[in-house]
Amino acid sequence: MRRLKQQLAALSEQNMLRTLREVESAQGPHVQIAGKDQLLLCSNNYLGLASHPALVEAACCATRDFGVGSGASRLVSGSMSLHHRLEEEIAEFKGTEAALLFNTGYAANNGIIQGLIGPEDRVFSDALNHASIVDGCRLSGAKISIYPHNDMVALEQMLTNAFKLRTGRWLIVTDGVFSMDGDMAPLDRLVELKERFDAWLMVDDAHGGGVLGAGGRGTAEHFGCLGKIDLQMGTFGKAFGSFGAYLAASRSVIDVLINRSRAFIFSTSLPPGVVATNCAALQLVNSEEGRIRRERLEKNRHLFVGCLEQAGLDLCGSTTQIVPVLTRNPAPTMKAAASLFERGICLSGIRPPTVPSGACRLRATLMADHDPQEIVAAADKIIAVLAELNLQDA
Ligand SMILES: *Cc1c(COP(=O)(O)O)cnc(C)c1O
Repeated sequence: MRRLKQQLAALSEQNMLRTLREVESAQGPHVQIAGKDQLLLCSNNYLGLASHPALVEAACCATRDFGVGSGASRLVSGSMSLHHRLEEEIAEFKGTEAALLFNTGYAANNGIIQGLIGPEDRVFSDALNHASIVDGCRLSGAKISIYPHNDMVALEQMLTNAFKLRTGRWLIVTDGVFSMDGDMAPLDRLVELKERFDAWLMVDDAHGGGVLGAGGRGTAEHFGCLGKIDLQMGTFGKAFGSFGAYLAASRSVIDVLINRSRAFIFSTSLPPGVVATNCAALQLVNSEEGRIRRERLEKNRHLFVGCLEQAGLDLCGSTTQIVPVLTRNPAPTMKAAASLFERGICLSGIRPPTVPSGACRLRATLMADHDPQEIVAAADKIIAVLAELNLQDA
């Protein structure tokens, strides 16, 4: 016990202690925290679907008709019609033969990589990939080659060098949109490389799904290479407003995972209410309303980024609704976040180990149902707080 307390005290001294913030209202562009209204600038609820009436209704109906629990894992007795329907709809949405549900994005990345490759194989993984991909690679026992973030020249060199002694299967894996920098992977160039070197390409589109591409089909649609990505992983917890994750891929990939993926096999399947909500979310993303919400989100992003760039802030190369503002060191970063919180703006200060040392940042995320005027006012407050702390040209 004493050692744990010392560990916590040390974290606190270094401004590295993480604590939970209690949200007292439903998720929306504003939330209630500690009895106070806050403009929410750090949720992944990009399209504002987390409390959308159509999704709430779908959850209630399915719960009334099918109960609150699925009762078992998919391979036992928990594979309900709703799961099969959602998988068919995802496959159609993504243009693949089949799809498979996972309980979370974290579990999906663990289970997909562990289920498909092993110690005789090699993974090429972007240096900034999400922790769940990193853990999946470790779990698989495969040889791991980490390439510098989005550096296609370096990746090509690694592939060329390893080609002479190649054994086993090769997998190139990347986030579609990187969660801490808000930039995209160059999927067109990754497709070229994966074809040339006969590797599989896996894209984790947790942040791109629902948002990018004219139809919200994600980063692959944005780059015009939907049909060319072997393994398209995505989540329902972000733009889709709900919970859960999926892989869209060929029939044989899915069948192998049903037989081999431990995260899929050894876990109770998603409850009916969640699965029905995901069906409703998919339908909404696919509709005219979905298109309008994507357009509003893009307008808000444009407005917000315009203000911050005009003030000369470093936005870490962001090209999406995830907008980091570089602040470098933990203490001033957390001070800036606290000061903004006092001014009614809730966003996160990001520190190591989530980002490298010296790369701390305030990370803002935008929503379709943010009021544009409030977005401009929030940008002004961020600029003012950073100026007060002398962080403008950090
Ligand atoms: C959020 C996220 C995940 C995890 O998804 P959950 O459904 O929240 O577990 C995986 N990959 C990336 C890139 C993410 O941003």
